[in-house]
Amino acid sequence: MNKFSIALLVLFACLPPATAISTDSVATQTLARDLLKQLVEINTTHAHGSTEAAKVLADRFLAAGFAPQDVALLAPTDHPTKGNLVVRLHGRGKERPILYIGHLDVVEAKPEDWSFDPFSLTEKDGWLYGRGVIDMKGQDVAMAVSLMRLKQENFHPARDVIVAFTADEEAGGDANGVQWLLDAHRDLIDAQLVVNPDGGEAGMKSGRKLYVAVQTSEKNFLTFAIQAIDKGGHSSRPTADNPIYRLSAALARLSQFRFPVHLTATTKEYFARRAELEQGQVRADMRAISLGSTDQAAIDRMSAVVETNVMLRTTCTATMIDGGHAENALPQRARATLQCRVIPGESAESVQETLQTVLADPRVAISTITPASPNPESALAPALVRAVEDVAHSIWPTVIVLPEMSPGATDSRYARARGIPSYGIDAMFDDLDDSRAHGRDERIGVVAFKEDVDFTYRLMKALAQSPRLADN
Ligand SMILES: [Zn+2]
Repeated sequence: MNKFSIALLVLFACLPPATAISTDSVATQTLARDLLKQLVEINTTHAHGSTEAAKVLADRFLAAGFAPQDVALLAPTDHPTKGNLVVRLHGRGKERPILYIGHLDVVEAKPEDWSFDPFSLTEKDGWLYGRGVIDMKGQDVAMAVSLMRLKQENFHPARDVIVAFTADEEAGGDANGVQWLLDAHRDLIDAQLVVNPDGGEAGMKSGRKLYVAVQTSEKNFLTFAIQAIDKGGHSSRPTADNPIYRLSAALARLSQFRFPVHLTATTKEYFARRAELEQGQVRADMRAISLGSTDQAAIDRMSAVVETNVMLRTTCTATMIDGGHAENALPQRARATLQCRVIPGESAESVQETLQTVLADPRVAISTITPASPNPESALAPALVRAVEDVAHSIWPTVIVLPEMSPGATDSRYARARGIPSYGIDAMFDDLDDSRAHGRDERIGVVAFKEDVDFTYRLMKALAQSPRLADN
């Protein structure tokens, strides 16, 4: 048993009376706005934790008619403020459950940096401002009110729908809710597949809605130290073995290096579909790359743009450097930190071997600071992609559904590592050139929020019914 083994299971002794919530979408939207306000007002940064927010949600589910045994508030015994809430809507058991996950915690926000109080919901000029609205209390609310609406409709789908609202995704991670639930309460959240809006993206440019992503994979991060050492000496007697020079020369070689192009099933499809949003040379290059072209000019053009370069290959970049110990001494040591973001399917060993070759100095030693953890790509399940397309097109007929690999990491990695295919799906449209997640004056559009609530409800309903969801 692990250190978290004894969970705190709180079933509410004094339940609020089960009030009837109307099943129509107007009532759902009103409830959504009210719940968003309530959640934003609860500070769920790392220091405060998520238990209070989880309790508020639990009360809402109980009031919406969920049975107490289907509303489980759980926290690790050694992290009582890092509460998680798992809610289940029962289906007919014909298919394995689907699990939605959403983190309740938010990144720190200093009121003095903001134009508004980050911990209250402010509406201004068509926007809703508040910490977490886009990452990801807005999506948490969309999942919560959708599940409540399905309950109120007496919906008994083919499979159970489980929603887990979780702790500690953003900072610290010492009580990550998804990881902990998978280890300590797998039975409660076991599912055929996971939907995690945090890994999704709905891209918009200059007010034009472009795509809804289906994220199937994430790059795996891996951190190395590289170090050169020497006996040192007096700075009046310089030598060619100066570790700062050797390390600098090795880093200069790395700066000129690109890992080979490595496309996955997801990134091939990404480039094929993304091409439809582009024009001219970019469209032609994306099409060529999606078809496996080795045309170096096309690869070079795609590699020159950060956004497409990171989809093409593993990257390793220097992030920190230090060395030397005195102004008048030859350095005995120079050291740099390299962070790599590795395409799923490539091993840490192969990345390290490549680095050794590129650095091209046997006296520059490589060691691992943060090892990689397995994080496979989830298969692009056609039934799932079709369901997302159908729902997206019912609301926004021209958007495309774009399979994606994220260069960064989300909680989906824990589920994928344990063999549960996981998909990042989110329809809270956000401007690609003005993304404020983690930043100041975080906001979502009033309409974008309403549409996401609608999308989430429709997709949850469709996925709950769809057979063979995870088949390839
Ligand atoms: Zn997030």
